[in-house]
Amino acid sequence: MDNKILFLIFLLFVIALLASFKNPTEYRCTDCNVILISIDSLRYDHLGINGYQKNTSPNIDNFARDSIFFPNYITQAYLTPISEASIHTSRYPSSNGFVSFTSMLDSQATKLEDVLRIYGYNNYAFVGSGNFYGDGTFVDQFSPSYKVYRFTSEKRGFPLNPNELKNFTKEKFFLWISIGNIHWPYGVPNAPQKYVDMFVDKNYSGPLKDIILDENFLPYIRDSIAHRRLNGTEFLSGYSLTNDDKKYIIDNYDSGIRYVDNYIGDLIQSIKENGLMNNTIIVIQSEHGEELGDHGRFTHGDIFENTIHTLLTIHNPVLKQKGTVLTQAQGLDIMPTILDMIGIPIPESVQGKSLTSVILDKTDVIHGKVNSDFNKYVFSERIPNPSQLHWILNITTENAIPIKTIYEILLKYNETDARNVLQDLKDISNDSYDEDLAVRTNEWKLIERPAYRIHILAQYKADSHSVDPDALTVNYSSLYQLYDLKNDPNEQKNLAGKKLPIENELIKVLREWRKMKESLKIQYVFNKTVFPNYTFT
Ligand SMILES: [Zn+2]
Repeated sequence: MDNKILFLIFLLFVIALLASFKNPTEYRCTDCNVILISIDSLRYDHLGINGYQKNTSPNIDNFARDSIFFPNYITQAYLTPISEASIHTSRYPSSNGFVSFTSMLDSQATKLEDVLRIYGYNNYAFVGSGNFYGDGTFVDQFSPSYKVYRFTSEKRGFPLNPNELKNFTKEKFFLWISIGNIHWPYGVPNAPQKYVDMFVDKNYSGPLKDIILDENFLPYIRDSIAHRRLNGTEFLSGYSLTNDDKKYIIDNYDSGIRYVDNYIGDLIQSIKENGLMNNTIIVIQSEHGEELGDHGRFTHGDIFENTIHTLLTIHNPVLKQKGTVLTQAQGLDIMPTILDMIGIPIPESVQGKSLTSVILDKTDVIHGKVNSDFNKYVFSERIPNPSQLHWILNITTENAIPIKTIYEILLKYNETDARNVLQDLKDISNDSYDEDLAVRTNEWKLIERPAYRIHILAQYKADSHSVDPDALTVNYSSLYQLYDLKNDPNEQKNLAGKKLPIENELIKVLREWRKMKESLKIQYVFNKTVFPNYTFT
């Protein structure tokens, strides 16, 4: 071979090597607008595209099929504002300080909207989720980055009339739309009757028919039994829900999904009609799902798959590649992905990664092979913030001294943080309490529950009028839960303690991760009173 041929071979090698790296021109849209749509309380396996048997989501399904769809998307928390703050800062709740409804964001956490504003975007927020309006600290801290931060004008209304999108054709914009209509009260009280009739059995005549399925009822169901509130209206106290009742609840919840799906369809239609489809990156995600009775509870208060495994789909007009990315993605990845796609430098503070490399990875998108190196481990946090403890403990009983003690501690800290509550519990019980954490691979999930005693206390059967002492004994299976997500996606069979090698691996990963978080030394700061005054009888 002469030098010329050698050089040609070398050149071909270099070209092949370059082609193997991601090419920004394949996905970068520097002139693109950005629309982020956040849907509250949307459970992933109640979507058609994830195999649900009811036709709850034809518009979301179509949009996801024409875009990049992430069926293994995980959020960092189980509550809307906490999960959303993680998305907008690309930091875990424990690393950005936003761990309750009234948290103050850590000063180190740069927000997506701050970066976009610096780079010339006009930011607009239209919010329908209750957590993003009123006097919440989320609003105080996030709204200054927006030119317009508008709440829904009517109760249970949608945040933006799709026709208003015609006003967004002249300047480069970031538009955040949050939709709260799937959240309790389940059902669609203001919607046309057809959305109710689609799923809810007209012949249902059980006792739930006359009850609004909201915060006065749903959080007080434990293991299919309705419980009395401490200081609230009594609904069906002691009543054991039948399968028809449970179906009625879920059918109403599904009506809400269909109603929101129709709204998403109208939004997409208006985006198309206003010529925005070809110059806008559109991200649709849900901050958390809903338990719907899977682990004894309705609503959302834990880090099981039904709650942290949610919807993510991304439309990028420049991308030729469409399809499904099986590799797991997480809330933290949304901010760096958006910035990468529009060619804006990603701040060093982010803890997530741009998803563009897995989107362009044909072994995943075309051949369905998970990239086990990307997001090998993702984490979700269940920090027992005072307001959440208040929710889960608000079940009445006559003799439950421990509950009362916990209440008193909670009341003492009505303007401060969950960590102090945990410290006090430690002082009275000689036990250590910390937040529950989940670590997840594409196939396995381990939940570590240092706060398990609190949750056991909260979840005991109120009708027994006493705390089961056995439930308070430390045992291994109450500290760890290990699930095989491939064969047991609803996490019904705890495999912890069965000596599977994956368990040790995940425990080690969690410990290292806890150490990393502790080294960040984030102080949680709260600025609003959390608890109303309760009296004990
Ligand atoms: Zn929510």
